[in-house]
Amino acid sequence: MGNEMKDMNDKKELLLYLPKVDVVLNDSRILEIKDISRKSVVDSIREVLDSFRKGILEGTIDYIDYDEIVYRIISKIKYKNSMNLKRVINATGTVLHTNLGRAVLSKKVMDEVIKTSTRYSNLEFDLESGNRGSRYSHVEDLICKITGAEAALVVNNNAAAVLLVLSTLSKDREAIVSRGQLVEIGGSFRVPAVMEQSGAKLREVGTTNRTNFSDYESAINENTGVILKVHQSNYKILGFTEEVAIDKLVELGKKYSLPVVEDIGSGVLIDLSKYGLSYEPTVQESIKRGIDVVTFSGDKLLGGPQAGIIIGKKKYVEMMKKNQLNRALRIDKMTLAALEATFKLYIDEEKALKEIPVLNMLNTKADEIKKRANKLARLLKNSLQSYVLVEVKEDFSQVGGGAMPLENLETYTVQLKPLENKVQDVEKSLRMMEIPIITRINKDKLVFDLRTIFDDELSIIRDSLVKIFGSDK
Ligand SMILES: *Cc1c(COP(=O)(O)O)cnc(C)c1O
Repeated sequence: MGNEMKDMNDKKELLLYLPKVDVVLNDSRILEIKDISRKSVVDSIREVLDSFRKGILEGTIDYIDYDEIVYRIISKIKYKNSMNLKRVINATGTVLHTNLGRAVLSKKVMDEVIKTSTRYSNLEFDLESGNRGSRYSHVEDLICKITGAEAALVVNNNAAAVLLVLSTLSKDREAIVSRGQLVEIGGSFRVPAVMEQSGAKLREVGTTNRTNFSDYESAINENTGVILKVHQSNYKILGFTEEVAIDKLVELGKKYSLPVVEDIGSGVLIDLSKYGLSYEPTVQESIKRGIDVVTFSGDKLLGGPQAGIIIGKKKYVEMMKKNQLNRALRIDKMTLAALEATFKLYIDEEKALKEIPVLNMLNTKADEIKKRANKLARLLKNSLQSYVLVEVKEDFSQVGGGAMPLENLETYTVQLKPLENKVQDVEKSLRMMEIPIITRINKDKLVFDLRTIFDDELSIIRDSLVKIFGSDK
């Protein structure tokens, strides 16, 4: 009983030490906060003080540190006013990281988005005639010029593109697909499921590892809608395998007057094997070989905004434009502006490689990445020597986004071994920073792959680690 009384008295005394709202409000550090209403600041102060009060009464707080309270209030205000969707630093080295927003867009591309979306635009207005125009017209000619296709249509993403194509060309009819191509792409794109949604009936042919010409041919009947080829994207079948070449599928389509459709996944427009990557079939090649309709993503290897691009023979694309479903899948003006600006860069291959961040990152040579790694290592050694061991190591980065799954890109990483802290705790603290830093753990080390880290992010990484560990200086 005596102890409980003492306990209660201690708590009462502690509560007296909690600062008053007015006092905190006039603290110079709080006064420094601009652009946030006084009411919102007061709310945050109250909330933090309430949580301290609660902690004291529950016995989880047994001393009061005024500076700590102010620090928590400032953090709370910052947190409340920051976006949930925010910029992060991708230190994983995976260039097309679907969880981290896939393709990074260039500032130049975004300038066009800002120009056309912070003011009115001619989105659906024909400037020449003064009449209503089509939103698709802005990119159609450009896409046709670059890909060699007769016609083009853009929608929300590649999943939508496949849905629209199948719904238009194969509704209530059979779409013939090789069993080896019934893939699932991360983020729940499953070819059979999309087909079902479109109303097309799946007609699987061949086996997982082998499908030949006669498998396709013998599946054709009066109820066939399309012959569909799907890029395997995120996996490869190796060993005893057989696939029917594009030319043969095109020949088959012609013979039976059936459209041949290809979902090529990543929209590669440049032969990347010229730059030391493995060969990926290009969009242009599929068109040249006579595929009737090709679909691909805007934000994979193409390096643009999220979008689905449908190109091919005019008669088919026109049918898709008229499909009511198209209205539900339509692309918005910001995406359209970014897409046009991205495609424009492809008119000059050199420019594309330089200014499209995805291509630029994929094409960065290991030597150059090594320089960046050495720079980061130097920064970290200078500030954190007594807290961590820092090493520069050769490693491999991934392309990501379901593209080129077997490609290992030579890279350099900075590996950081905390001397006292647990590596998992450091990894988490980095994720919780104002600009979160996403890293990879390899045993007892934290790995920073410099392929996907921008030059201006090196000092942010250093400063964040100093916040976590403290500084030598
Ligand atoms: C990635 C991919 C898709 C899905 O594309 P999204 O643009 O993410 O909708 C569909 N098919 C293939 C073959 C893919 O690689």
